[in-house]
Amino acid sequence: MMTITVLNRETSEKIAAGEVIERPASVVKELLDNAIDASATRITVEILQGGKEYMKISDNGRGITYQELPIAFLRHATSKIAAIDDLESLSTLGFRGEALPSIAAVAKVKMVSKLKEQLAAGEIEFQGGEKINYQENSAADGTSVIVENLFYNTPARLKFLKSNPQEAGIIGELVSEYALGNANIAFKFISDGKTLLQTSGNGEIKEVLAEIWGKQIAANLTEKEEENNGIALKAFFSPITMQRGNRRQQLFFVNGRLVKNPILHTALEQPYRGALPHKRYPIGLIYISLPPSETDVNVHPAKTLIKFHDERAVFSAIYNIVNSALMAPSMINSILNNQESAAAISQQITPAPESIVPKYNQEVFKELQIFKGYNNHEVGQENSPYQQFKAALPFLREDEPSKKLFPKLKSCGVFKNSYILAEDGDSLYIIDQHAAHERVLFENILDKLALEKTYAQVLLEPIIVDFSLNDALLAQEFLPFLNRSGFDITHFGDTSYLVRSAPSYLAGSDLNEILVDIMHEINDNKEKSRQKLLAEKLACKAAVKVHHALTTSEIDQLLYDLSACEEPYRCPHGRPTIIEIDDLQIQKWFKRIL
Ligand code: ADP
Ligand code: MG
Repeated sequence: MMTITVLNRETSEKIAAGEVIERPASVVKELLDNAIDASATRITVEILQGGKEYMKISDNGRGITYQELPIAFLRHATSKIAAIDDLESLSTLGFRGEALPSIAAVAKVKMVSKLKEQLAAGEIEFQGGEKINYQENSAADGTSVIVENLFYNTPARLKFLKSNPQEAGIIGELVSEYALGNANIAFKFISDGKTLLQTSGNGEIKEVLAEIWGKQIAANLTEKEEENNGIALKAFFSPITMQRGNRRQQLFFVNGRLVKNPILHTALEQPYRGALPHKRYPIGLIYISLPPSETDVNVHPAKTLIKFHDERAVFSAIYNIVNSALMAPSMINSILNNQESAAAISQQITPAPESIVPKYNQEVFKELQIFKGYNNHEVGQENSPYQQFKAALPFLREDEPSKKLFPKLKSCGVFKNSYILAEDGDSLYIIDQHAAHERVLFENILDKLALEKTYAQVLLEPIIVDFSLNDALLAQEFLPFLNRSGFDITHFGDTSYLVRSAPSYLAGSDLNEILVDIMHEINDNKEKSRQKLLAEKLACKAAVKVHHALTTSEIDQLLYDLSACEEPYRCPHGRPTIIEIDDLQIQKWFKRIL
C-alpha cells in the first residue's frame, strides 16, 4: 500500500532548488541578477574549476543590512515585489525570492554585505540550508557571495555536470551575455586565476561587442534604433556576408533581461531568408524596451522564458528594423563591393550541399543492395547496423574488407557537373561528387589524425581569428588537438588566435569561418568524438562542391579513392554517395522485358 506523506523540509528544499539551480552557471546568473537589481556598477565573477569548487560574485551595489541578512535567505523573501499585481510594473530581474535559499540548499554559501551608510558589514553563512555563522564584520561597500562545493549533497546533479573547462565556458558565455546586456556595468570574469573578460562599463555597446564577439564582428554589424507603438528597439545585426552555423550569437534583451522565445529568432532571421544558405544564421544583438505589463516573465523559475501579450507587434518591430536596413541600397552596394561576399552570393545561387540529397524513387532506383538495413545511421558508430551487418556476413569480415564488393566503376559521363555516371557490368551508377569526396577526405583525415601525421601548409600571411569567449575557452582546451591535425594556432591575446598554417587540403578555404564553425560544432555536440567531428567538418569544407567541373583524371581518381574507402556508401553525415540502377530495371523501362 502507498502512504502519502509530506516531504521533510530538506527534501522539498532540494527539489525546489533543482528548478532554479541546474549547474554552476545558474548560480552565477541568479547572483548577477541580484547585483544588477542592487544597482551595482561594478561586478566581478571569480570561479575555480568550472565553478564546481568555488564561485565568488562581488558587487558594489546598495547592500543588505545586518538585520536583513537572514531574511534574504528565507524562501519567498524578496524586497522587489509585495503582491502579484506588482509584476505588472516589475523593473527588477528578480522577484520570486527563491535564489538565495535555493543556492543555500545545495551548497555552502557565505554572504558579506555592507551598506554605504553603515560602518560595519554583516556576514552570514549557510551549509545545506542550515545557518552556520552570522556575525558583524568589516568589508567594502556592496555585497559578495561565495558559493562552495555546489551539489555536494545532491550527487545526481553533480554527475550531470560537464568538464571543468566546459562549465567555465558556460559561465564565461553567460557573463559575456550579461556584459552585452549591461554596457553601463563594468564586468570582470576570472577563471582559475586568469582574467578572461573585462569590460569598462562606459556604456558603449560597440566596445563591449568588440571585447566579446571580436573586433571583426563589431565593425561589421549594422546598428539601428527605432521606437513605435510603445516598443523601443536598439538592434545590431550582421550583413548577409557574415553568418554562423548556429544561433548562439543571437541575443535578445527585454527590459534588460536576457530572454528566450523562438519568435524573436524567427523575426530576426526572416529578412535574411533566401540570402543565407540552409542552416546558416545571422548574428544579432537586440534590445527591446516595452511596458512590463506587456510581458510575462513568470513562466519558469529561471525567469528566462518570456511571453508577450502582443507577440505580433514585437515580431513586426524586429522584422521591420532588420528588413529595412538589409534592403537599403548602401547595404547592397557594400555587398557587391566586398570581395569576401562574392562567395556568399554564389552560395546563394548554388544550393548548399545539404539540399541536393538525391531525390530518388525507392521503387525504381535502389541503393546498393548490400547496404539495405543501413539507413540514416551514423557512420563509424560501434554496433551500428553496418557493423552488425559486417559481422553477420562471412565474406564481409574485417580481414576481408567490404571494398571487395564495391563495384569496379568506370566513368561514362557527368550530369550537371555534380553527379558522376559510371558503369560496372550490369549496372549504371550515379555518384554524388561532393558526398563521395567528403567520404574520401573524411577517412583520410581520420587516418592522419590517428597517426598524428602533420601535413601542414604555411600560410603566406598569418590570419587572426576572433572567437567568442566561450569558443575561446574551448579553443584553449582544443588547441593541442588542432595543432596535431595540421594547424599551427597560437594564442594572440584575449579571445584572438593567430593561425600560421593549416592542413594543405584546406588551401583556399575561409579558415576563419571554418575554425569558428568547428568550435561551435564541438560546443554543440559534446558527446560526439572530437576527432570525428573535426574530420567531418574539415572534410565537408574541403570537399569539391556540386556544379564544379572535374577533369576526367580527377573523376577517375575520385572513383578509385571512393572504392578504397572503409565505408564508401555513405558520406560522413550518413547520406548516400552512390546509387545503383541495374540493367534489368532499364530494360523494363524500355519494355524490352516485362
Ligand atoms: P529575489 O531576487 O527574487 O528578490 P533572492 O533570493 O535572489 O530573491 O534575494 C532575496 C533578497 O535579498 C532580494 O530581494 C534583495 O533584497 C536581497 N539581495 C540579494 N542579493 C543582493 C545583493 N547583491 N545586493 C543587495 N541586496 C541583495
Ligand atoms: Mg534574485
